[in-house]
Amino acid sequence: MTNAELNELKQRYVASGAASPATQFAAKAENAELWDEDGKRFIDFAGGIGVLNIGHRHPKVVEAVKAQLDRVMHTCQTVMPYEGYVRVAQKLSELTPVRGHAKVMLANSGAEALENAVKVARAATGRSGVICFTGGYHGRTFMTMAMNGKVAPYRTDFGPMPGQVYRAPYPVPSIGVSEEEALRHLKMTLKSDANPSDTAAIVIEPVLGEGGFHAAPASFLKAIREICDEHGILMIVDEVQSGFGRTGKLFAIEHAGIEPDIMTMAKSMADGMPISAVVGTDTVMDASGGNSLGGTYTGSPVSCAAVLAVLEVFEEENILEKSQGLGEKLKSQFNAWEARFDCVVRGRALGAMAAFDLVEKDGSPATELTGKLCREARERGLILLSCGLYGNTIRFLMPVTIGDDVLEEGFSLIETLLDEMTA
Ligand code: PMP
Repeated sequence: MTNAELNELKQRYVASGAASPATQFAAKAENAELWDEDGKRFIDFAGGIGVLNIGHRHPKVVEAVKAQLDRVMHTCQTVMPYEGYVRVAQKLSELTPVRGHAKVMLANSGAEALENAVKVARAATGRSGVICFTGGYHGRTFMTMAMNGKVAPYRTDFGPMPGQVYRAPYPVPSIGVSEEEALRHLKMTLKSDANPSDTAAIVIEPVLGEGGFHAAPASFLKAIREICDEHGILMIVDEVQSGFGRTGKLFAIEHAGIEPDIMTMAKSMADGMPISAVVGTDTVMDASGGNSLGGTYTGSPVSCAAVLAVLEVFEEENILEKSQGLGEKLKSQFNAWEARFDCVVRGRALGAMAAFDLVEKDGSPATELTGKLCREARERGLILLSCGLYGNTIRFLMPVTIGDDVLEEGFSLIETLLDEMTA
């Protein structure tokens, strides 16, 4: 079918809240390129929102998925377990820097991992409070909606939210919150709203994803670790977007050199197959009763096969090194744009988790310009994503396996568009 025909069907049958505003429909994808149903080619700087760090349809993952399809597609792992689930659990336990011996539960999505992380934290501590951060994003289920540190569009129409969710500011100096201030507020929250002895967990993204690609300083993450230890609170690190190689390490928290009690991951762990994981210290993960965690599809055998293949690709193709290398290229490109365009500021990158902000002449967020850049880029064949509390951040989540020629082509299109828009 053509894009036009599919758009008609979409308008008629897909719920507005779930329908993409994009008018092109994906027909084919490979590494960092996509083609729509009308045969138009796109360079993909979005990677399905951070899911495709090793590129669309990595051949090794496709092969592993096909092989698994020929063996077993589904049993429900509580009905009849299978090797893939256990092997993924073993690998993640070995690779994830949580405290002590780690155990694992698998789920389907990032939000579901966060839900389960809160469940085990509550079971392990016997407490209910959860502290999250401004600009944080954790999903679209009820608990995760309450945990998100941004209202629109995630929870505007859906109140009331679950209780015992408290918020402290994330340190982002460019929006006026220094590290000292963020820490002072967190300590205040523990006095004013969230009594430490009622608080199960502090949940933080080591690099804010939807909130604008701001990395928390290592000293801030260390301070949270100390506060957690002082009060018997569990530290949950949400690596759904920052994990699996995006920042040049397998997990972003490794840059800070601290060990959380629980970590959540999803997205790039399976190159597009739906799966997520909660990895935590064994005593925490074992705290809830038998059959208290899981679901029909959690840790599907096909997705598990994909995870195991992804981990092999990381080793064989030096994905972490590639991520660092891509980050360097992005940073030097940002420097060039900052020198050339007044509206481009604050280029930043931790590994390949990279972004810049667009601002007006007075330094205020250029939200409209950001939206226009993304829309125009799409029309010209480049998929570009924005993010940030004020929607004025351009983030880069292209596969780290992207070829130099495709990368340069994408860069030069952005440059042309910035030229045109600022003329
Ligand atoms: N946590 C973080 C840090 C995320 O970036 C996201 C998704 N953008 C989620 C959780 C939710 O993941 P999902 O969309 O798979 O539910």
